[in-house]
Parts: sequence; structure tokens; C-alpha cells
Amino acid sequence: MLDPRVVVVGGGVNGLSIARAMSERGLKRVIVLERDTLASGGSGKSSGIVRCHYGVSLLAALAWRSLPLFEELADEAGFHQVGYLLAVGAGNELSLRANVQMQQELGIDVEEITVDHACRMWPYIRTDDLCAAAFEPRGGHADASLLTQHFSRRARAAGAQIRQQAAVRRVLTVGDRVVGVEMSSGERIDADIVVIAAGWWTAELVVELEIDIPLKAFRVGMMVMQTGCESGRLPVLSDLASLQYARPEGDGRIVIGNSDHSDPLYVDPDDYRDRMTERELDRAAGKITHRFTGFPDASVSHTYAGCYDITPDWNPVIDQVGIHGLFVATGFSGHGFKISPAVGDLMADLVLEGGSRDPSVVASDFRLSRFAEGNLLRSTHPYVGAGEMR
Ligand SMILES: Cc1cc2nc3c(=O)[nH]c(=O)nc-3n(C[C@H](O)[C@H](O)[C@H](O)COP(=O)(O)OP(=O)(O)OC[C@H]3O[C@@H](n4cnc5c(N)ncnc54)[C@H](O)[C@@H]3O)c2cc1C
Repeated sequence: MLDPRVVVVGGGVNGLSIARAMSERGLKRVIVLERDTLASGGSGKSSGIVRCHYGVSLLAALAWRSLPLFEELADEAGFHQVGYLLAVGAGNELSLRANVQMQQELGIDVEEITVDHACRMWPYIRTDDLCAAAFEPRGGHADASLLTQHFSRRARAAGAQIRQQAAVRRVLTVGDRVVGVEMSSGERIDADIVVIAAGWWTAELVVELEIDIPLKAFRVGMMVMQTGCESGRLPVLSDLASLQYARPEGDGRIVIGNSDHSDPLYVDPDDYRDRMTERELDRAAGKITHRFTGFPDASVSHTYAGCYDITPDWNPVIDQVGIHGLFVATGFSGHGFKISPAVGDLMADLVLEGGSRDPSVVASDFRLSRFAEGNLLRSTHPYVGAGEMR
């Protein structure tokens, strides 16, 4: 097909990265349909942490391939290259070493450091229950809304159309081939290729086609604290002993997220309370007071909540799914921001070349059929207590 018409459903960071990649690779008839405004789904809530520390090598590789764009954009993506520090407690030292080695073999700039060294980087934490640490000097945090806008500008410059307040009701097919989408307004848009990158909502758009994507909306509570300390140059901290992470802001505030997923709460992503519950607050307070013993003047600034679109193995689905011309990129399970530049390129490869151009990116690892096969994608060296996130 010389100049296929492409519809991308979903105006989050991944939908826009996909539209950007396909438009820049020469497709002239790409249209993005977003039911609300750009980055109004999971992207707008993202903590924006940029790191390559994963035990699933494909995730680590996609994060590593994405990193140069953050470095190139710097302020344009709100990227603060403060580094990424990971600390683990007893029982997880060997996993940390094995993961660092796997990442170094991929070329990732990461090294094991001593707990004393970690403590010098983050002087406000207690360390008596920490046993090992690793540091990525090129990690940090960025802004998912800014990156979404960046992709949107590039997609438009390469000829794509982006429509907001444009909800898709269903995917249209004839036989085993996709032919377009029908909007909630009743309008029909013809297409040869439809890529659904609609986060959790992807599953409901394909269920009518008898395609089952096992997605759940997993609630995560977030807290912003005022610490009374100079937080701007602190690295992002992933504390896998207490199962929490800290993203320092420049003004004494830090954003604290929960990495303990042993007691999941699944919600309706269109209807959930956008503040921490009393229970979430109690748990967070216990972990924060345990770890962050050195803040001179700590108080809670505010709380909020978001949803991860999780799959059974906490890894995404990036695949053509049953119908000719129908692709999905979903189920990013809390990792989808940092890998979004590479996700766009991978989807463009799948659509245009039928497979990944990069031999080290084994796209079939993210196939949908792995769930039905019972062949879940797992970390080779999972962390006790935080296996889902790594
Ligand atoms: C609290 C929180 C913290 C996170 N922190 C990090 C982090 O530190 N680092 C990291 O890498 N990742 C993080 N993530 C995960 C990351 O933010 C997401 O994986 C990523 O933003 C998902 O982007 P997306 O484009 O796939 O989906 P989304 O951003 O959810 O976009 C999907 C879009 O589809 C639209 N849509 C839905 N249905 C339709 C329809 N029928 N028609 C048209 N449009 C539709 C929605 O309105 C939405 O805008 C975090 C997520 C949360 C919630």
C-alpha cells in the first residue's frame, strides 16, 4: 500500500509518539483522535521518572534507546538529569547485581555503589536496613505533558492531523481487515491502519471484535511533601526496602510514590477518588517516617491518585492483534513514559516493516498471545516484594 490512511486512537504520550514516528517516516495521512485533551489519561498523572533499571531486558533496552531524546530536549521535556538511585534491603542484593550486569551488557550507564555512597547522595535517609545500591547518572525525571506536546508538534510538522474532543466508539472491519473507525458523534473515518494507544480504554474498543486484552486499572496514591531541605539536586530515589520512590522537585518538595503492589485496588479509571484515602495516607506516613529521617521541616503539601493500565505480567502489549491492519500499544503498567520515544519507533517498524528493525528489540516479547499461551514475560532476577515493577 503506497500511502495508507492511519488512525491513531489516544492522545497520550505513546499515541503521539507513534503518530510522530509514522509521520516522520513518510506516512502523509495520519490522524490522531483523542476523546478529551492531549495527555488527559495516564500521561497527565505520570511521575515522569526516567531510568533504565529493569529486569526485563526489552524494557531496559527501550528505556536506553529513549534516553537520548530526553537529553536532547532537556528543558523542552522538563528533563532534570539528577540521576537515578536504587537501594535494596536484605535478600535483594544478588538481584541488584544481576540486573546491573544485564543492563551494562546492553550498554546502559549504571554501576553498583556502596550504601555509604548512596547516603552521601541522599543525606536525609536512614540506611541501616539497606544492603546494596546502584546509580544511573543519566537518569532523572521529566514532564509527560511537555513530551506529549513535543511529539504532537513534530507529528503536525510532518503532516499529521490531531483532533481533540474526538472519541472513537468502535473499530470498523470488513472480513478480517480494518476499514476505519466510527466516532461517538456518528462520523466515520476510513483507514487502512488503526493503532489503538488508548491506555486502559484500549480493551473496551476491541472487545466487540472478540479480542481479549487482559487489562486492569490499578489505583496508585501519590503524595507531595514539603521537606524544608534543598531538594533540587537530589537524585530520584527508588527505595525497594520500604517499597516507595521519591522524585525531588526544585523547591523543597518531593513527590512520593508507592512501589508496594501486594494489596491491589482496581478501580474504574473514569470514576475514582483523586486523593489518597486514609488507608493510603497511613501506609505512606509509616514508610516515609521510617526512611526519611533527616528532613528538617516535613509536612504534606497535597495528595492525588492515578491509574496504571496493568497486564497480568506488568508488561505492555505492542502488537498487531488478529485483524489485518489493527495494532495496539497498551498495558504500560507504570513504565510507559520513559520508553515512549522508542515505543513510537517500534510501532512504526511493526506497521511499515512487519517487525522490529532493531535486532536487539525482540518485539514478539510484547505479543498479545503470550497471555493465552501462559508464557508471561518476567524479570529474570525479580526483586522480592517488587517483582511487578522491575
Ligand atoms: C501516578 C502515575 C505515575 C507514573 N509514573 C511513571 C514514571 O515515573 N515513569 C514512567 O515511565 N511511567 C510512569 N507512569 C506510567 C506512564 O505515565 C503511562 O504508562 C503513560 O503515560 C501511558 O501513556 P499512553 O499514551 O499509553 O496512555 P494514556 O496517557 O492513558 O493515553 C490514552 C489516551 O486515550 C484516550 N482515549 C481513551 N479512550 C478513547 C477513545 N474511545 N477515543 C479516543 N481517545 C480515547 C484517553 O483520553 C487518553 O488521553 C505513571 C503513571 C501514573 C498513573
